[in-house]
Amino acid sequence: LFSPALERLHKALRRLPGVGPKSAQRLALHLLRRDPDGGAELAAAITHALDVVQLCEGCRALSETPRCALCSDPRRDDGLLCVVENLADLWAVEQAGVWQGRYWVLHGRLSPLDGVGPEALGLDRLAARLVGVRELILATNTTVEGEATAWFIAEMARELGIAVSRIAFGVPLGGELETLDAETLSHALAGRRIL
Ligand SMILES: [Zn+2]
Repeated sequence: LFSPALERLHKALRRLPGVGPKSAQRLALHLLRRDPDGGAELAAAITHALDVVQLCEGCRALSETPRCALCSDPRRDDGLLCVVENLADLWAVEQAGVWQGRYWVLHGRLSPLDGVGPEALGLDRLAARLVGVRELILATNTTVEGEATAWFIAEMARELGIAVSRIAFGVPLGGELETLDAETLSHALAGRRIL
C-alpha cells in the first residue's frame, strides 16, 4: 500500500509529541505533494539545527556557542542563579524582563516514579555550578514534582552555604511558569521568599 520511504516518513513524524497516525498521514502528504520545497527546507533546517545547537555549558539552554548570550552578558549578576525546569520557563522569565542574574535549566523535574532521580536530572552538575553563587532562586513549577524538586535542590544548596529562595507570590498552586503573564512572573520573582 505504502512505499517504504513513506512508511519511514510516517514513523518519523509520529515521534513528534501530539502527532497520531492520521496527523502523520496528513503531514506527510502535505510535505510531499503540496509543499515539497517546504519539506526540503524543513529537513535541512532540522539537520542543521541538530548539527550546530548544543547545551550551553553555563546554563544548559540551547546555544550555538559553548556559552550562550545570557551567560556571556557581562551586565548580569553572577551571584544570582535562577533554576527553571525547562527552556519555555526560561523564556517566560526572560520575557518578564526583571531578572538580572543567570539561569540553570534542569530539562525536567524529579519524578521518582518515572525513574527521574537527582542523577538523571544532572544535579551534580548544578552543584558544581553553584561555586560563587550568593542566592539560588528556585523557579520550578508549583506542581507536586516541581515543589519536590525545589525542596531537594534547596537542601543541596543550603549544605553548600548558599541562600535559597522560592518564587511564590502570584504563582497559583499547580501552576506552570510558561503559562503566566509577564507581570505575574515579575511579581513572583520580586516577591520570592527565603526558604
Ligand atoms: Zn547559558
